[in-house]
Amino acid sequence: MTAKSAAAAARATVYGHPRQGPNRELKKAVEGYWKGRVGADDLHRTAAALRRSTWRQLADAGLHEVPTGDFSYYDHVLDTTVMVGAIPARHRAAVEADALDGYFAMARGTQEVAPLEMTKWFDTNYHYLVPELGPDTVFAADSAKQVGELREALALGLTARPVLVGPVTYLLLAKPAPGVAPGFDPLTLLDRLLPVYAEVLADLRAAGAAWVQLDEPALVQDRSPAELNAAARAYRELGALTDRPKLLVASYFDRLGEALPVLAKAPVEGLALDFTGPAAAHLDALAAVGGLPGKRLVAGVVDGRNIWINDLERSLSVLGTLLGLADRVDVAASCSLLHVPLDASAEPDIAPQIARWLAFARQKTDEIVTLARGLAHGTHAIAAELAANRADLASRAASPLTRDPSVRARTDAVTAADTRRSAPYAERTLAQRARLNLPPLPTTTIGSFPQTGELRTARADLRAGRIGAAEYERRIEAEVREVIAFQEKAGIDVLVHGEPERGDMVQYFAERLTGYLATRHGWVQSYGTRYVRPPILAGDISRPEPMTVRWTTYAQSLTARPVKGMLTGPVTMLAWSFVRDDQPLADTARQVALALREEVNDLEAAGTSVIQVDEPALRETLPLRAADRPGYLAWATEAFRLTTGGVLPGTQIHTHMCYAEFGDIVQAIDDLDADVISLEAARSHMHIARELADHGYPREAGPGVYDIHSPRVPSAAEAAALLRKGLEAIPAERLWVNPDCGLKTRAWPEVRASLENLVTAAREIRDDL
Ligand code: GLN
Ligand code: ZN
Repeated sequence: MTAKSAAAAARATVYGHPRQGPNRELKKAVEGYWKGRVGADDLHRTAAALRRSTWRQLADAGLHEVPTGDFSYYDHVLDTTVMVGAIPARHRAAVEADALDGYFAMARGTQEVAPLEMTKWFDTNYHYLVPELGPDTVFAADSAKQVGELREALALGLTARPVLVGPVTYLLLAKPAPGVAPGFDPLTLLDRLLPVYAEVLADLRAAGAAWVQLDEPALVQDRSPAELNAAARAYRELGALTDRPKLLVASYFDRLGEALPVLAKAPVEGLALDFTGPAAAHLDALAAVGGLPGKRLVAGVVDGRNIWINDLERSLSVLGTLLGLADRVDVAASCSLLHVPLDASAEPDIAPQIARWLAFARQKTDEIVTLARGLAHGTHAIAAELAANRADLASRAASPLTRDPSVRARTDAVTAADTRRSAPYAERTLAQRARLNLPPLPTTTIGSFPQTGELRTARADLRAGRIGAAEYERRIEAEVREVIAFQEKAGIDVLVHGEPERGDMVQYFAERLTGYLATRHGWVQSYGTRYVRPPILAGDISRPEPMTVRWTTYAQSLTARPVKGMLTGPVTMLAWSFVRDDQPLADTARQVALALREEVNDLEAAGTSVIQVDEPALRETLPLRAADRPGYLAWATEAFRLTTGGVLPGTQIHTHMCYAEFGDIVQAIDDLDADVISLEAARSHMHIARELADHGYPREAGPGVYDIHSPRVPSAAEAAALLRKGLEAIPAERLWVNPDCGLKTRAWPEVRASLENLVTAAREIRDDL
């Protein structure tokens, strides 16, 4: 095909869509089903109606091909587990008794059986359920969901393309089932899995699918030659099938790198590639492999992970270059629209001129359609859209929100000295010991105490105007008094105020920093029926006034023991927000760090001797490709040091991390130059203590000895055993005693008993020293 005819054929599509519905109908129906208030038939009807209205809306917006099969009651990786029949042994009885209840049993567990493990979907904040496979796994095709949803869309008269998790990614995301040797490599099951995919593909073709999309995002990570070979074999075999639809192999979240030539050579009819962020490298890489002659290229030029309007002219120029490199070029978002909220036009709190800079799923769909039209018919066909887009981009670039000269002056004035404490750790620790006078193995907690029903009611009452600020603060103070009194009685050494004033550790600060926007309906699926509303880093960041000092000093006024100030760190503030796309992340991090630094300094000036800056997300935003990691870690650790670098040697800086294995970032943890770190460790039996020791980590550390993700109360003996294990790696004068993470999701009775046991364990070991 010539470039001209390739352009004329340009089509618009997406790989997936938010599932919950405009008013979170799906969440309500699924949770209603769990509580027994909604019947299975009603749930299915609600779901089918949501799918229909989504497809209609996509088609009405001008999308030529709608995705099917991306819908899910809980998670699309779990749906894939069902599709290939890889039901774990412990869930089989439940699935056989009732498919829907069995499905939710795998997702959430029951009294009798544990759920599948949940983990993050690449570097997004979406969580999937990890397949559990072993040498005995027998796959069996179950195409009912995929075929059913395809038929629904075809019945509406639409062109539909089923979207499946590809076989290689499915296996690469899996882990050895419980009881299987940990060395087992799920990828060895590929030969058994491919016939199942072949069967599903044949069923989809029989049901009317012309194309099927197989998602292989795992191929954008660094892959071994054996893994690349497996990918080559998978698509050679699937490509060689005779009874199959055309295959579109999709990748997203980063560049394919060495997997690009593998897929380019595979006997499939199309590739879908990301052209945003670091994946923009695909442009040159495609040319280097000689393009995709004879293939369909779906170009993800609209960022599917962020909420900013597209630069339509720039995208058109990328698309124009691609025309020469493939047989046909279609336009899409870089990944499923699952990762953005539904509709930016529904945000009453965002000023109209700023709302024009935002594109959620609906607006992105319009952008994709516009780009496809521009590609097919020329820029004159979209002249009005281009003019409006140009004006909106210009207004964003020139806005005082995005360019605050005083913030720019402050960030420009940052020197290397600002990112260093005034004394080295070895000196600081002496000053801190003299000031704090703590026993060996000091006890503390990570910050939050249970978020009780009363606290949630107080927040709701405040929001609805049923109570005023004064009454709200009175209720928070009462909670702080209770939290302090409990900790004193339990004998904890370094206290916290309990964070009762925070609904969310990022949102709380975002609401108090200039430059951040909050949405009212910007819900994004985190996992299952849990949705979050990430704030938006829209402009230059500054702190109009102190954010936490009032609560920390109030708590400190109630006790003679040190109360730890509690802040969310700059990297986590970025990781759990939508970030700016008009400047490097490092610049945004530096602005946030400077605002937090003012808070740290104010806490110190108010007499706070211990300040914790949480960075639970430091590991999770690590770039997918190893080559990009040193650059990320350099700015991330610098932002932390800029936040904490302004305090006196005698002020003790803590940090906290969870949700990950930290073995590969111990050097970065060391580079934070914090005085004390608390880490999630209870489930891994103090493994991290050993890793810190092997690295020669010189500072104080509190590997968690109470797994707060479970209602279980650890006994004093159990906590003491873990501490003894910790002592094998970390000497007594540097070991802290604390839970794994904050206690906000737990109930008071468990928290009381567990913390009392922790104190008992610490005292027992101190007596032995
Ligand atoms: N300080 C926070 C808390 O205790 C830390 C939470 C986290 O690490 N996710 O809730
Ligand atoms: Zn944590």
